[in-house]
Amino acid sequence: MINDHYEVETPQYVVLGSNILEEKLKEINILKRIKVALIVTGPTKTREYGEIVKNILTDMNIKVFTYSLSNAFDKMQDKYINEVKSILNIAFQNNARIILGVAGGKVFDIVKACSELLSVPYISIPTAASHDGISSPIISYPIFEVISNKIPLKSSRVRPPIAILADTAIASKSDRRLLYAGCGDLIAKFTAILDWKLAHKRLKEKFNEYAAAMSMLGFKIIKNRRKIINLATEKSYRIVLKALIAVGVAAGFVSSSRPLSGSEHIFSHTLEMLSYKYGFRPALHGEQCGIGTIIMAYLHGKNWRLIKNILKEIGTPTNANELGIEEKYLIEALVTSRRIRPTRYTILNERNISYEEARKILYEVEVI
Ligand SMILES: [Zn+2]
Repeated sequence: MINDHYEVETPQYVVLGSNILEEKLKEINILKRIKVALIVTGPTKTREYGEIVKNILTDMNIKVFTYSLSNAFDKMQDKYINEVKSILNIAFQNNARIILGVAGGKVFDIVKACSELLSVPYISIPTAASHDGISSPIISYPIFEVISNKIPLKSSRVRPPIAILADTAIASKSDRRLLYAGCGDLIAKFTAILDWKLAHKRLKEKFNEYAAAMSMLGFKIIKNRRKIINLATEKSYRIVLKALIAVGVAAGFVSSSRPLSGSEHIFSHTLEMLSYKYGFRPALHGEQCGIGTIIMAYLHGKNWRLIKNILKEIGTPTNANELGIEEKYLIEALVTSRRIRPTRYTILNERNISYEEARKILYEVEVI
């Protein structure tokens, strides 16, 4: 007997297309049964899309409450905890039976945490193509750490959205910088899979070749279609959204974020943590992951220049200047990354990098 079992969790309904939102929202079965819904949006333009979704749901005789996250650039800890608490309150008081996330990236971490804490499903309506959080059943590591510190949230691995409605007519109106950042998050799969293989080799960590292959496919599609993506037409958004959804779904094949996130993500998380410590503004998640992938590909002894060239042709930052983060923070991030997530074995665990070495590495890969 093989003493192991295999579990796959995927969204029930995924639609990607142009101007599909209204028609497809009305086809989702659960929305035909529930009476109260809660929409969670980001702080800026996504609020408008939240209104559109609200009108559609109201048309379906659903009572709708909306919560928009604040734009405050204050301390990470208070910000996320307060947002989660506010959403939980609204949902409790009004007996909301479903959450609809209408947003680009990080908002989905909050939506996932609330969906889990309330035991209600959520629907993902991405307004940009910037992040695989739109489809993955994972709360990103730093946000999970902050929330679970104060609120009893058991695992960063949550259920996938029951539906994903990705309307390219909406996403293509977002800033192209978000699109290029989404590509950074996909290019990151190159080193994420290398790290996963390394952990399998060194620690016998479980490796799932299907999830890994799907994740790598996300990388390859972006690599092969980088010129079209750079044009930032609706087709570009379609390519990137499709890849982001596919890799996020692949994470549902395993019980961790391994297929999505390796040392390059740890580097990005570290930068984010340093930004709260020193008060500088971090870059976009996918942009930081893209830079991380260049560095980690170098540490893995792989063709980092290829990674750099792909990112460059897409339009994603490839150095400190383009990223808008001072060299000293990038150096500190590289030195301290290996301490940030000790339970995740990556190439960072294979050597202790000093400040001087970090500077040399970043110089060599032309990040500084
Ligand atoms: Zn990511």
